[in-house]
This record gives sequence, structure tokens and C-alpha cells, in this order.
Amino acid sequence: MSASTRELLDACVHCGFCLPVCPTYSLWGEEMDSPRGRIQLIGMVEDGEVELDASVALHLDRCLGCLACVPACPSGVRYDQLIERARVQRREQAPRSLRSRAVERALFAVVPRPRLLRALSWPLALGLRPAALAPRVSVSELRAAPPERTAAVGERRMSVALLSGCAQRVYFGRVNEASARALAARGCDVSVPLGQGCCGALHLHGGREQDARRRAEATIEALSGYDRVVVTAAGCGSAMKGYGELLESDRAREFAERVCDVTELLAELPAPAAQQRAGEAPRRVVYQDACHLLHGQGVSEQPRQLLRSVPGVELVEIEDAGMCCGSAGTYNLLQPQAARELGERKARSILAARPDLIATANPGCALQLAASLRRLGRGDLPIVHPVELLG
Ligand code: SF4
Ligand code: SF4
Repeated sequence: MSASTRELLDACVHCGFCLPVCPTYSLWGEEMDSPRGRIQLIGMVEDGEVELDASVALHLDRCLGCLACVPACPSGVRYDQLIERARVQRREQAPRSLRSRAVERALFAVVPRPRLLRALSWPLALGLRPAALAPRVSVSELRAAPPERTAAVGERRMSVALLSGCAQRVYFGRVNEASARALAARGCDVSVPLGQGCCGALHLHGGREQDARRRAEATIEALSGYDRVVVTAAGCGSAMKGYGELLESDRAREFAERVCDVTELLAELPAPAAQQRAGEAPRRVVYQDACHLLHGQGVSEQPRQLLRSVPGVELVEIEDAGMCCGSAGTYNLLQPQAARELGERKARSILAARPDLIATANPGCALQLAASLRRLGRGDLPIVHPVELLG
């Protein structure tokens, strides 16, 4: 049984240790835009002291859902569960602007439907750019996809199912291809089961819990029967690891235990001999932590370990590596100003490290960083997923 909202709220002792890691508190210095302030607001709504009106909703909407406050809390407060529940309530009770309803409707109508998203994206491959955040993709990138099956090379260690993702399969099919190759080279039989749909992460983070549950059930159905379920997008992996709590069933819990980020599994497996050969010219690489990997899944060392194993790569760290880049699912569309400031702040701290390229393990971060770097005149800096550098 999951804890009641009152129990979750009572775990907070108001110490404020979560404040320095919160991106919105760092932007505005407002208590109500900090985790502690939002917990207090959620508590006041729970106790009937205030209504969930537009003024309360404003502070809930400004939360990126980056989860930095969760591992930072010494009392183990489950802010992730609190904000998810508050968002369901917020959708039902508080009025939303016409613009945000229109943006949200369009997103939910298109993003979880990869065929439609791909069809609408062909103009991008032809150079048309309707918005600054629109990804720059080529025709070959829009066509890239791993085969339905890739056999293990050499000794077979396990079977894995690869989640294609929604935006991931349309804009970053090359990441899924590189993941299938790298996994097969390390002894995995890789399947990309047909018929898999959206994992529900977008819905869960958007306060559409019923839709999220339905999609979680369908994803479990489509990807069961393998030793591991591998995910190449941090937001999806974070949501899928939470299926046990979302569905409260043994089947969902057992499935969730098999879910791993591709970098987690690759770091576990022995690297093939070819990877050890000396490679190209040395490259300075910044690894940008995706919030749903770092804070949501506690994965930070494995992608760095993989990058360090690539011949010629010099891994360089940046200031405030754990601070959100402002992408946060739909946040950069619904809260464009805050997202822009956070994106540019992150891009500046990356540029200060003078990298030759950036590696990040989440499609949203890659798109957000690309747009931020373009605004700073550094749209030339390549952004890849760590698996794309592996042999
Ligand atoms: S959420 Fe945790 S860190 Fe933040 S004020 Fe409450 S107890 Fe302290
Ligand atoms: S999830 Fe991120 S933005 Fe929201 S309160 Fe926590 S640290 Fe702040």
C-alpha cells in the first residue's frame, strides 16, 4: 500500500537542505518556488486551508519535476510522489490558461504517436524551422531504427528488450541503433518488440495518471519475457522503474526490477576487445547529467565509466552538474522563460569547460542544450548519447 498524502507531507521537517539544489529557488529565491514551500502549499491544500486556485497552481507549475530535491533530503521525503499527486489535483481543480491548454493538447496528441510525429517532422529534415526548440534532424536520422532483432556477438549472456521511445525513436533512432549494436557486442540478444507504444512517462509527469496506468500496463505486456528491459531515454526509464508503485501489482514490480538504463547495463558487461584499441585524436567530452537519470535513478557513474573507456576521450566535469538544464519534459514549452534561463546557464557552464563534444543520455536534454547553444552562437558543438561513442 502506498503512503497517504498526509504521511508523505509529515515526513518533511522543514530543514531547508533541499533549497540549494532546486533550480527554481536558485532562479527566483522565493520560498514558494522551493521544494519546502511547495510541500507547505500542498499541505495547506490537503488540510483545506487554501484552495488549489491559480495562485497555488502557479508555484506547482513552475516545478520542473527534476527530482533534485529527493536525494538531497535527509528525511527521505518523497517529493516525487507528492508533486505527481498534486498535479492530478491541479489538472482537475485549477483553471489553466488557453495557451498552456492548447500547447498541452497538441503535445499529448502528437508526441505519444511516433508515426504522426515522424510525418509532421519531415519538414524539419528539409530545413524548415517553425520554432527555436524544433530539433535539427536529417532525413537519415528520421529514418534510423535498429532491426527488430540483433543477435549476440560471441558468448550469449542475456536477452534484452529495447524500448524504442516516442520522440526518441523519431529524432534519435541512431541512439537506439548504437545501443542495439553495443549491447549485442557485449553478449546480449537484442529485441525491439513491435507493437510497443508510449511508456506513459509524459502522462505521469503531466498529471494524467489514468492514461499513465493504461500505457504502463500495455508496455509491460509488450516488453515482458526478457532478462532485461533497456531504456535509452532517462525520463522513460525513471517512469518505468516506478511502475510497481504506479500499478501496485507484483507483475509491475517484477517488471520494474528488470528495467535499466542502457548505460547501466553496458557498464555491467565486459567490453569487447576492439574497444581497447587506440583511437582517434583526443577529445574533451562533457557529460551532461539528465535529471531523471541522476536524481530519478541514481545513475551517474556508469555513463562516465563508459565514456572514460573510449580511447582518446578526456572526460571533463562542469560546475553545478546536478542542476536541471530546463528541458524537463514539456516544461520548456509551458514555462519558456525559466527554461530558457536554465538552458543558457547550463550551456555557459558547459562552454566554460571547453569541450569538443557533449554527451547526454536523454533526448529532451539534447534538444534543450542544442537550442541553448545555438542562442549562444555555439550551435556547432556536437551533442551525442554516450553509446554513440562506443565501438
Ligand atoms: S523536503 Fe526534506 S530537505 Fe526539504 S525541507 Fe523537507 S525535510 Fe528538509
Ligand atoms: S523537483 Fe526540482 S524544481 Fe521541483 S521542487 Fe524539486 S528541485 Fe525544485
